[in-house]
Amino acid sequence: MVRFAVEFDQLRGLSRGRAAKSVQDASLGRFLDRLESKARRAGRTFAKVDRYFPSTRLCSACGALTGPQGLDGLKVRRWRRGCGAEHDRDANAEINIRREGQRLVAAGQADT
Ligand SMILES: [Zn+2]
Repeated sequence: MVRFAVEFDQLRGLSRGRAAKSVQDASLGRFLDRLESKARRAGRTFAKVDRYFPSTRLCSACGALTGPQGLDGLKVRRWRRGCGAEHDRDANAEINIRREGQRLVAAGQADT
């Protein structure tokens, strides 16, 4: 079964100014609604990963919260921390989001 896992947190935090932020929130919300209804029509599973889920900070190898964070962390593309695993920022986040999506599905907290 194909599953979607969507993270919609940090995009919000990155926009500058209140107007830009609300426009972005609105269009992102519409995009997610469309994605959700498409997934539903196609009989797919749709899991919304919490906006506070630390997909970037979480080490996908050992689960430690040692990855880059905050505004300074945005510049960090690759990182290596305590456990020795080296991560590409996006690849690591993708693994974490997919895993969290599967956890939500298993916990019955996703639309299937
Ligand atoms: Zn680690």
